[in-house]
Amino acid sequence: MTDAVQDAGAEGADEPPALTDGIHLVVDALKLNDVETLYGVVGIPITDLARLAQASGIRYIGFRHESDAGHAAAAAGFLTQKPGICLTVSAPGFLNGLVALANATTNCFPMVQISGSSEQHLVDLQRGDYEEMDQLAAARPFVKAAYRVHRAEDIGRGIARAIRTAVSGRPGGVYLDIPAAVLGEVIDAEQGAESLWRLVDPAPRQVPQAEAVDRAIDLLAGAERPLVVLGKGAAYSQADEQIREFVETTGIPYLPMSMAKGLLPDDHPQSASTARSLALRRADVVMLVGARLNWLLGHGEAPQWNPQATFIQVDIAATEMDSNQPIAAPLVGDVASVMEALAERSKPGRINAPAAWREELAERSAQNVAKMAGRLKAAETAQPMKFLGALQAIRDVLHENPRAYVVNEGANALDLARNTIGMQVPRHRLDSGTWGVMGIGMGYAIAAAVETGDPVVAIEGDSAFGFSGMEIEAICRYDLPIVTVVLNNSGVYRGDDPSASDDPAPTALKARHDLMIQAFGGKGYQATTPAEVATALREALASGRPALIDCVIDPTDGTESGNIAHLNPKGITVQR
Ligand code: ADP
Repeated sequence: MTDAVQDAGAEGADEPPALTDGIHLVVDALKLNDVETLYGVVGIPITDLARLAQASGIRYIGFRHESDAGHAAAAAGFLTQKPGICLTVSAPGFLNGLVALANATTNCFPMVQISGSSEQHLVDLQRGDYEEMDQLAAARPFVKAAYRVHRAEDIGRGIARAIRTAVSGRPGGVYLDIPAAVLGEVIDAEQGAESLWRLVDPAPRQVPQAEAVDRAIDLLAGAERPLVVLGKGAAYSQADEQIREFVETTGIPYLPMSMAKGLLPDDHPQSASTARSLALRRADVVMLVGARLNWLLGHGEAPQWNPQATFIQVDIAATEMDSNQPIAAPLVGDVASVMEALAERSKPGRINAPAAWREELAERSAQNVAKMAGRLKAAETAQPMKFLGALQAIRDVLHENPRAYVVNEGANALDLARNTIGMQVPRHRLDSGTWGVMGIGMGYAIAAAVETGDPVVAIEGDSAFGFSGMEIEAICRYDLPIVTVVLNNSGVYRGDDPSASDDPAPTALKARHDLMIQAFGGKGYQATTPAEVATALREALASGRPALIDCVIDPTDGTESGNIAHLNPKGITVQR
C-alpha cells in the first residue's frame, strides 16, 4: 500500500478517494525492492523525492557533485550485488552523474541513475525550457539501457525494469528518466499501489553447460603451465569459497587483477603476483575468471603473453568471448556456478598443476622480492619522504586493520600502492578500474563506509584527490569512518616540472589538504616521515572519525605514465 498523499479520512460514501503522486510511487517502488540508500544531489525537480525517501526510512546521502554521488552508487552496486541508486537533477546534474553511470557500465557494476527532467513537450520542440535536454537520448550511448517513464502508473514498471537490467547478466549502468510532470502527477492511491511490484530473482544464476565445463577441464588437465587470472567480475560474484576451493585443490598458480586482490590473501603461496611477467610469458593454458583480456592484460598479445597460450574464459557475457584472442573453452555462466561445476566435474583430482611450474614461479618470485627489498629499505629512511616510504607505513597499519576497505586512485599513488599493499579480504580494494579513471576516490570511500559500516582508507594521489576532494565535507557531515591519505608530491605525476612561462607548469599543484578537512570539522594531519604517517593513520583509524593525512612526498619522486613519446619511435623533432 502506498503512503497516500491525501488520506481517505473517515469512512463515508461521499469521501474523495485517496490519492498519491509520482514522488510517493518512486519511493514506494524503491522500498518494495529493498533499496536502502540513495546517493544524490538535490535540486529541481527531485528535492521532495529525497525528503520523502528519507522520511520513509531510506537513507539519503547528499553530495556536493553528482559524479561523486554516482561513483558512490556504483561502488555500492559492486559491494552489494544490488544496483546502487543515484538521484540527479535535470540537464547539468544529469550529465555530471552520467560520467559515473558510464564508468559503472564500463566496470560492470550495477547502478541506476534516476534523474528528473524538464517538460518533454518543450524539450522535444527545443522551445528553451529551464535545464532543457533530451536526457534519454544523451544517456543511451553510455549505458546498458535507458528508459523513460511517461505516466505515474508506469513508475513501478520503470523501476522494476531498471533494477533487473542493471543487475542481471553482465551488470551495468541503467538510466531512468522521470520527468518533473510525472513526479508531480496525482493518481488514485489504490491504482498506484497496484502498479508497483517486487522483483522475483532479479539476477538469476547462469549455469554453464556440462560439455563446456569438460572442455575446459581437459585443457587444464593437459597443461604444463596453467594459470588462473582472477578479475573484478570474480570478486563481484561473491563466489569466494568456490574460487578458493578450485585454486587450492588444483594447485594452479593465480594472478589477481587489482580489484580481485584479497579473494585469496595476497601472501597465498599460489599467488604469482610477484612473478607476473614470467607467468604471462610462460603460461600455456590460461583461465580468465571474471577478467577481460583488455588493455589491463595487454590484450593477451605477445611479447607480454606466450603466443602459443590457449585461453579459457569464465564470463557471464557470451559476447566477451573472442574479443581479443580466440577462446578455446568459453565458459558462459556466473562465476559461482561455473566454479562449482568445475570443482564437481574435475573430481577426483583430474587437474594438478605440475610442480616444476610452481617451482619456476616461486624461484622468480623470490628473486623479484629480493630485488625490491633494497628499494623498499632505502625508501624507509629517505628524506624528503618517498612514495614507497609512506606506502610501507600505510601497509603496516592496514595489516593491523584487515577489515579496513582500501580505495586507491592516482598515477604513482595507484601503481605503487597496488603493489605495496597486500589485501587479505575479498572486495576490500576499490580503485580506478577499467577506464583507469580519476575522481572515484571520495565517492567510492563514502559508499564503502555507508554500505558496510567498516573503516575506509582512501589512498589518493594529490591530483586524483582534487577531482572529488570537496566530498570530505560530506564525509564530515555524515561523520563517516574514512581516513583519506593524500600522497602529495605537489603535482600530476611529479612536482618538479619546469615551467615554460611565468605560470606554474601544467603538471604543478600546490595544497595543504590537511587544512581543508579542518574547515569541515575533521581531523587533519601533516606527515613528513613514514613514522608520522603510521602514527597519524593508527590514531585516525582508532578514532573511527573523518580524518585526512597530507603526506609530504619528494616532488622529484614519481614517473609519468602514458607518455606518448613511444608513438614517435624515431624521435622526430617537430618544429614549432
Ligand atoms: P578486471 O579489470 O579485474 O580484469 P574486468 O572488469 O575486465 O575485470 O572483467 C570483469 C568481467 O566479469 C566482465 O567481462 C563481466 O562480464 C564479468 N562478470 C561480472 N559479473 C560476473 C559474474 N557474476 N559471473 C561471471 N562473470 C561476471
